[in-house]
Amino acid sequence: MSSYYDEHDCSPLADGERPNHMLHLARLLIDGGYASDLDMEFENLFSGEKKAPPASKKVVEDLPKIPVSPADVSKNTQCPICRADFELGETMLQMPCNHHFHSSCINPWLERTNSCPVCRHELPTDDPDYEEYKRHKARKVQRDFELESLHDSMFG
Ligand SMILES: [Zn+2]
Ligand SMILES: [Zn+2]
Repeated sequence: MSSYYDEHDCSPLADGERPNHMLHLARLLIDGGYASDLDMEFENLFSGEKKAPPASKKVVEDLPKIPVSPADVSKNTQCPICRADFELGETMLQMPCNHHFHSSCINPWLERTNSCPVCRHELPTDDPDYEEYKRHKARKVQRDFELESLHDSMFG
C-alpha cells in the first residue's frame, strides 16, 4: 500500500520545515505564467502580420530640421539612407533618437512605418489600435520587471 507522500508526489517535510506558500506562488507566476495568458491573446490579435503604421504626419512635420554645420561636414556625417555626406547648405531632419536624415530620404520611410531605420526608435502614430498595442507592451515590460524583482527578492 502506497503512502500519502507517494500518491501526492511530494517528499515529506523535514522536522521543523514548513511549506513555503509564497515560494510556490512566485514559482507559479514566473514559470507557468498566469501573467502571460493575456499577452498571448494580444499577440495573436496583433501577430507578426500587424505592421507598424506610418508615423503621425503631425509629428513628422514637427521634427526639427537643422542646418548642416561645418562640424558635421568635417565629421563626414552621412545620411544613413542614401549614404551621402551632408554638405553645407543642406538641412538635416533630426529624429528624437538623434539620428539625422535628408527630409527627402526619411519622409517616404515615415509614410510607411513609424520607426527610425537606424535604431528602430518609434515615433507616435495616428493609429489608435497601434498606440494601445504599444501601451500594452510597455505594461508587460513593467510587469516582467516587477516579477523579476519579486524573484530576486525571494531567491536572490
Ligand atoms: Zn539621404
Ligand atoms: Zn534612430
